[in-house]
Amino acid sequence: MSVDNPVPNSPSRVAVVTGAGRGIGAAIARRLAEDGFAVALIDLDEAGATASADAITAAGGKAVGLAADISDADEVERVVATVADKLGPPTVLVNNAGITRDNLLFKMSESDWDSVMGVHLRGAFLMSRAVQKHMTDQGWGRIVSLSSTSALGNRGQANYSTAKAGLQGFTKTLAAELGKFGITANAIAPGFIATDMTAATAERLGMGFDDFKAAAAKEIPVRRVGEPEDIAHTVSFLVSDGAGFVSGQVIYVAGGPKA
Ligand code: NAP
Repeated sequence: MSVDNPVPNSPSRVAVVTGAGRGIGAAIARRLAEDGFAVALIDLDEAGATASADAITAAGGKAVGLAADISDADEVERVVATVADKLGPPTVLVNNAGITRDNLLFKMSESDWDSVMGVHLRGAFLMSRAVQKHMTDQGWGRIVSLSSTSALGNRGQANYSTAKAGLQGFTKTLAAELGKFGITANAIAPGFIATDMTAATAERLGMGFDDFKAAAAKEIPVRRVGEPEDIAHTVSFLVSDGAGFVSGQVIYVAGGPKA
């Protein structure tokens, strides 16, 4: 095992975070490194993944940035093998990579539909299938997938809402199948989190990002929008040893009880 592990025969502390070049994924990767995991940051954008990994290394953590399209089965197999080779067997997977292709149903193209399903659903499926081999070998694992409050339905997001609801069913099924191997699976459903994704929504609606965030905050019980670190904190809990009896759950991290 290439990761320093003070306890003999304990599982390797290697985490994989998809879509970690920026936004929520980058914050999750930083937090897991602070928690003592060696972290593989996977992103379509190699420069983003490498820059985020370098920042973790500069802060004293252990990280590698790797380019892969998680909707491509061959690329997924290759990148997971590279992670195992460079860091050791991955025992934590955070299915975070995501895209939006918003449009009202009558204007939504087949490509808008397929690309969203490809990244969120096919991507989470391919990554989970590739990584679970290592988790079952280690007898310990944690899978966390990023759902959304949009899973409850959101105008202009028929594709994204469907994918995010699908991830909740995927999570509950993985929890049922993999629990006997010491693996938990949970989903986090964020509300409004300030990232490039929500900035792009503001731009599409013709609003400045600050005005957009202020308007959103008025509707959120804690009176602020979320930050990527709010999600990273919840991931940190779900992948901890102490959370081993929490599985198949969806935690809404939205500053209040509903979207
Ligand atoms: P973001 O800033 O747009 O970052 C998403 C990352 O995923 C990007 O780095 C992107 O790479 C990467 N990615 C996209 N397609 C990929 C693929 N096929 N293979 C590998 N990487 C890919 O988004 P975010 O706001 O941080 O969102 C992260 C997750 O949280 C997503 O699943 C999103 O749906 C979910 N979420 C976000 C919010 C929110 O308010 N922001 C709310 C609920 C749920 P590139 O940089 O190369 O494009």
